[in-house]
Amino acid sequence: MQSLRFKALEGLAGVDSTLTEHTGKITDVFGSNVFSGKVVREYLSDEAYKSLQNSVKNGTKLERKMSEQIASGMKAWAMKKGVTHYTHWFQPLTGTTAEKHDSFFTLKGDGTALETFDGDALVQQEPDASSFPNGGLRATFEARGYTAWDPSSPAFILEQGYGKTLCIPTIFVAYTGESLDYKAPLLKALASLDKAAVDVCNYFDKNVTKVTATLGWEQEYFLVDEAMANARPDLIMTGRTVVGHAPSKGQQLEDHYFGAIPERAYAYMRDFEMESYKLGIPLRTRHNEVAPSQFECAPIFEEVNIAVDHNSLLMDVMNKVAKRHKLKVLLHEKPFAGINGSGKHNNWSLATDTGVNLLAPGKTPKTNLMFLTFFVNTIKAVHDYADLMRASIASPSNDFRLGANEAPPAIISVFTGKYLFEVLQEVKNRVNNKFDEQDEAILKLDLHRHIPELLLDNTDRNRTSPFAFTGNKFEFRAVGSSANCASAMTVLNTIMAKTLATFKVEVDALIEKGEKKEIAIMQTLRKYIVDSERVLFEGDGYSEEWEIEAAKRGLPNIKTTPQALDAFVTEKSTKLFTETGIYNEKELHARHEILLEDYVKKVQIEARVIGDLATNNILPCAISYINDLVGNIRGLKEIGLGDDAVKAQKQIAAKIAEHINAISENVQAMIEARKVANKLTDSRQKAIDYCEKIKPYFDVIRYHSDKLEFLVDDKKWALPKYRELLFLR
Ligand code: ADP
Ligand code: MG
Repeated sequence: MQSLRFKALEGLAGVDSTLTEHTGKITDVFGSNVFSGKVVREYLSDEAYKSLQNSVKNGTKLERKMSEQIASGMKAWAMKKGVTHYTHWFQPLTGTTAEKHDSFFTLKGDGTALETFDGDALVQQEPDASSFPNGGLRATFEARGYTAWDPSSPAFILEQGYGKTLCIPTIFVAYTGESLDYKAPLLKALASLDKAAVDVCNYFDKNVTKVTATLGWEQEYFLVDEAMANARPDLIMTGRTVVGHAPSKGQQLEDHYFGAIPERAYAYMRDFEMESYKLGIPLRTRHNEVAPSQFECAPIFEEVNIAVDHNSLLMDVMNKVAKRHKLKVLLHEKPFAGINGSGKHNNWSLATDTGVNLLAPGKTPKTNLMFLTFFVNTIKAVHDYADLMRASIASPSNDFRLGANEAPPAIISVFTGKYLFEVLQEVKNRVNNKFDEQDEAILKLDLHRHIPELLLDNTDRNRTSPFAFTGNKFEFRAVGSSANCASAMTVLNTIMAKTLATFKVEVDALIEKGEKKEIAIMQTLRKYIVDSERVLFEGDGYSEEWEIEAAKRGLPNIKTTPQALDAFVTEKSTKLFTETGIYNEKELHARHEILLEDYVKKVQIEARVIGDLATNNILPCAISYINDLVGNIRGLKEIGLGDDAVKAQKQIAAKIAEHINAISENVQAMIEARKVANKLTDSRQKAIDYCEKIKPYFDVIRYHSDKLEFLVDDKKWALPKYRELLFLR
């Protein structure tokens, strides 16, 4: 039988990469499947419209009567668009989105068939959710969980084939109130940030009543021919290749980045972009990335809450649309060894309801002091909670990428750029004990003269920093490509909320002592700069010197997920999360437990896949080739040729045998190590065991397998090779 690999290779020639026709303007379809803007106005009474607006803006609870009206309006809109089913759409801690569809269709007691969707169905559901990860929460407390409508994220229609489903964005909580998803804590963090940031803004501008955190993510991904991916059990089961000899050509020619987009990829992009536009995802850019077959897309930034939903939705859409194009999209952080992995930069800033970007340098000395206040508070927050920032991006797949010479290291540092670095030095040096009103006025003017220049200078960028200031926002670059942005955003906004709240307390205390407001602010900023300057780093974050320097500065450098996750349950974090009301202690421990379990499961699956592949795919190919060699050597001897004639073949056979033995022994040893780890009952210890005692076998087995791939007859090798996965389309 022909192997899947060769079938896939043959099939490539017949792949249709023509473009589905998309004519017309993007604005014609943008948001057409979203219940927002004009349609809401059209389908709701004035009263219902107002109360929905109010609930979105201020988080107020909707009256039952109103939710009835809204549900009925939503149903009318959705049915007009051909929708038959609805679902509560949520983001459980499994890393994907969840849906459970119900039809509008019901039979009344007297047998009348009707389509209904009432307020209760809109507001709350009880998905049978016992199989979602809960870290022991539901086992211990209540068996059930429920989903609750989040009016701040608009409902939308998902189209799948001919079916259309109305999706209601919800949070997912246990009956006892503990959150079981990504969204519930995120919403709390954003509310907490709003309050703390408004309080600080009011030092400068009394008109500010709301501060919204904004997020613009950049999604990197790989594309692989679907048939080819199907011939790689590792890609299908783990999202990455666990073996594969490096191709003769990798990314060294740098000919892919910003090059012309290959036709098949382009057709795919156009298609998923169109689907995204209908869902109101404001995609803006698309381009090739550094590695072959690697690409990126990015939207215009939005409120964090909406941006998070849109990214989760986009990942779904990308997966679905890829099928239509007989492609597989790889969102894994490191699908291929030896070439770049994928990230999801999170561009983050804060916007006021008066239209000011708080992380954009201001136009006047006064607004610049406001900018500086938020800028310095961000640095302080990252400094104080660097371990939490690291934990927020920890995952077994991101471990392959962080610190691997292409992605930011596991050391969290902040890049400010030259000008702002100098500004911070000025504040530090000039704000002293004798600092008076006149000094303050002069310093403010001086700083103002310094700062505007930076906006003009776009070259002052550092691509190796995990957290970089880029002119009017910070870019958290260490987030993984497959991650739910909510994890990083919950932590970032929480630590910012906490830092700003403390800042306010400290400034107020100085004012109380009789200090002038601006001087009190400057003095507190100076203190924050001194306290956190060791987190500032302007050099090459990928270099070895930085690792050494960071260690000298006492900055944490935690390389693996099981260790990084400890940060969630330290005394300091518990205080932070409970005081801000984001998580209670139970929730924190449950989350820690869930993440550890997730780590163990994923590494366990990889270990099994590697064992399987090695034993029943790679070794048979190698053994079959040895047989050929042996037969050949014997034949050559039979016709009277001497040792010299068979020398090379004997050497190859001997090398292959060596690698076969090594693989076999290591697979066996890895299985034994798993048996030991599986007996451990403490999740943390088990995760550490999987990380330190089992994962190391992956590289050893891979080394020998890749040697075999090089030695064995190409025709006999069953797994599609890197050159085929990466360069053929
Ligand atoms: P670059 O950083 O490469 O110069 P842009 O400035 O266009 O490119 O921004 C890159 C990303 O940052 C985009 O996804 C964009 O939406 C996002 N972004 C821009 N401004 C903000 C902001 N104020 N808040 C959050 N994200 C932003
Ligand atoms: Mg960027």
